[in-house]
Amino acid sequence: MTLPEPRADLGLREGYHSAQVDVEVRLNTNESPLPPPPGWVEQLRTAVATIEYNRYPDREARQLRVALAELHNVAPEQVFCANGSNEVLQSLCLAYGGAGRKALTFEPTYALHSHIAHLTGTAVVAAGRLDDFSLDRDLVLDVLRAEKPAVTFLCSPNNPTGNSEDRSLVKAVVDAAPGLVVVDEAYGQFADWSARDLLDDEVPLVVTRTFSKTWSMAAVRLGYALAPAPVVAMLERVALPYHLDAIKQAAGLLAVARVAEMEERVGLVVRERQRLIQGLGRLPVMVWPSQANFVLFRPEVGPGSEVWQGLLERSVLVRDTSSWPGLQGCLRVTVGTEAENDRFLAALGEVLREVGK
Ligand code: PMP
Repeated sequence: MTLPEPRADLGLREGYHSAQVDVEVRLNTNESPLPPPPGWVEQLRTAVATIEYNRYPDREARQLRVALAELHNVAPEQVFCANGSNEVLQSLCLAYGGAGRKALTFEPTYALHSHIAHLTGTAVVAAGRLDDFSLDRDLVLDVLRAEKPAVTFLCSPNNPTGNSEDRSLVKAVVDAAPGLVVVDEAYGQFADWSARDLLDDEVPLVVTRTFSKTWSMAAVRLGYALAPAPVVAMLERVALPYHLDAIKQAAGLLAVARVAEMEERVGLVVRERQRLIQGLGRLPVMVWPSQANFVLFRPEVGPGSEVWQGLLERSVLVRDTSSWPGLQGCLRVTVGTEAENDRFLAALGEVLREVGK
């Protein structure tokens, strides 16, 4: 007996996985360095005890959507929730991509945009960025005209480079794109501006957000989209029935009531980000400015992968992006707690001295 062949168009694409190894300082997946507020954990414990487990959860996740709508000053019909923003992106590709349609990405960017597009049978057109990782307005408009993508992915701030997309450029893309424009704002809270302001039921724009970063809830797997109501209606059609379990809905609802605590954490991460960038500036590395909770840098001595390995040997894990197209030799470090960032900077200093000998 032989097992059947999977879909031919999946090819041999590998998934997108960062190493999950046991280390003392984990700065590789852009999570929050802090656990959620103890009060939230306490409230969730009570909520979990009162769920009617023999019943399906609210299919519309109404309360959570109302709370998120209030938070962002949109209508509940303009909010779609899913299991992490990755599932939001997948739902978008299922509804607006697919066979015979194209998705446009600007590389280097979040690898899951092209990966999910491929998985949903959407052809991927990958355009480039300028040397500082910003977008070239003329090139962007040319590609939109030539390729007519059904879905255009922007990422602001962009993972893994850290820069925000320019507001006027995002507006120009939305005006010119023949299909849907998705602005992935997984790191939106750390940035100076949000594409939320451009949202309107008449505008083909979707903004995606996650609870995985600032909200300290990566384990919960909750993300959402803010979009025109007809787009949300389409996303609901492609989502599986009851896809958002009752525990997740309760967890999200309790979190949204704690915006002030979340904003405090954002402030802390932004301060630490500055300290991290200053610390990196004293070492032989090139550092890019960041509007996110991570920083991209390129060691000036030794291959990036050797520096990554040296850090791992000191129990510090960062993301090895050194072999990614357009990021030769680069590594990405997540902003951690003060103690973690100090450990990272000290370890990096040691590794660079060793590799440079
Ligand atoms: N978008 C971007 C740009 C990300 O970096 C990530 C997480 N790595 C996600 C989306 C997915 O986040 P989640 O599925 O945890 O909401």
